[in-house]
Order: sequence, then structure tokens, then C-alpha cells
Amino acid sequence: MTVPGDWARRWMIQCAQVMRDHREELNSLDRVIGDGDHGENLARGFSALEQRLEESASDTDTSTVLTLAATTLMSTVGGASGPLYGTALLRAAKAVRSRQLDGDCVIDLLVAACEGIEMRGHAVTGEKTMVDAWESAVKAAQVAALSGADTQQVLVAAAQGACAGADATVAMRASKGRSSYLGERSVGHRDPGAQSTALILKAAAQTATN
Ligand code: ADP
Ligand code: MG
Ligand code: MG
Repeated sequence: MTVPGDWARRWMIQCAQVMRDHREELNSLDRVIGDGDHGENLARGFSALEQRLEESASDTDTSTVLTLAATTLMSTVGGASGPLYGTALLRAAKAVRSRQLDGDCVIDLLVAACEGIEMRGHAVTGEKTMVDAWESAVKAAQVAALSGADTQQVLVAAAQGACAGADATVAMRASKGRSSYLGERSVGHRDPGAQSTALILKAAAQTATN
């Protein structure tokens, strides 16, 4: 089974609303171990994307939408997360080009996005970054697919995995990005980028099921 053809468009528009709704929560997380702008950065970037998508209402192709998302986030999100999410979405766009949105395709999208972030930021699992949420999402999605999950179920598993990955960052000591300046004092706090990844992948699952 595949998800609706305009899924990526609805996913990205949903992200704009979610980032506006969670702006303060993400700013607050970033205030503790960073510079307090993560919610602001993402709300600005995804709102700009929503505007561009409205201007090109006929663009529903997954790869086209994700490419527009990548270039928009790269140019409008200040801070580390802009190029990271931009690279993720650009890789994802390439991975899904001209393909049916079935379970395998969604796995490839997630793997490509995760690899893009790792390539760009040189972080690995356990360094208290968004990589922890992406890696956990990919693993959960792969496990679900192996046990016969359909596309929507793969996305739900990815969202749950991302959430678990974000939870796991609380106990970690940051060694990449701004929060690494805090060293041991970063322990006990959730990473804002891992939390925004959990929100983005939750939106991906929600827009695939309704
Ligand atoms: P900035 O730190 O420049 O203000 P943001 O606040 O928008 O940028 O984003 C911070 C988030 O970016 C962090 O919570 C972390 O998840 C992510 N991040 C920072 N550096 C890296 C990196 N090298 N690799 C992966 N993710 C990173
Ligand atoms: Mg910040
Ligand atoms: Mg900043």
C-alpha cells in the first residue's frame, strides 16, 4: 500500500503549523543547552516553505516538494539546523525521485535523510543531537518493514522511534554543536534538534494516515 500522492506537500505544510505550535517549547529546550532560538529558526523556515508551497499549488510531486523544502530551509533557517535539515531533505528528495511511495521508498527516504545529516554535521549516535532521533527512527522503520508493516505503519514506527531517540538524548553528554560547550552540564536535558525531528516525523505519520 502507498500513501497519498500529495503526502509530502501535506507533510511539509503540517510541519509549518507544528513548528509554530511548538516554537516556545523548542526555544525553551534550546535556552537550557544552546542559544534559545531553535523554535524560532524552524517556525521561520517552515512558514517560509508553506508560503512558497502556496505559491506553487500545483507542485505535489514528492521529490519536487522535498527539494523546495530543502532549499527554503537552507536559506531561511538561521543556525546549525538549517543546513542539516536542508541536506536531509535534499538527500531524501533524490532517494524518492520518480518512485511509488511504498514502504521501501519511505525507508530509503529516512535512510537518505539520516545519512545527509551525518555527512553534513559529522555526528554519530550518542552525541546528543538530532542524529539520535533520526537513527532511532530509521531502525524502528526497518524493523516494522521486516515484520510486514505497510507504508503508514512504517511511518508510525519511524515517528515512535524518533520520539524514543529524543527521549534518550536527555541522559547523554553533548559532544557536537553548541550544547557541547556545556560538557557534563548538558546531561539531564533533552536535545532541541532531536525533539524537532520527533515532531517532524510525527507529522509525517499523521499526514500519511488522514
Ligand atoms: P544553533 O545551535 O546554531 O542555534 P539551532 O538551535 O537551530 O542552531 O539547532 C540546534 C540543534 O542542531 C541541536 O539541538 C542539534 O540537534 C543540532 N545540531 C547541532 N550541531 C549538530 C551536528 N554537528 N550534527 C547533528 N546535529 C547537530
Ligand atoms: Mg539554537
Ligand atoms: Mg542560533
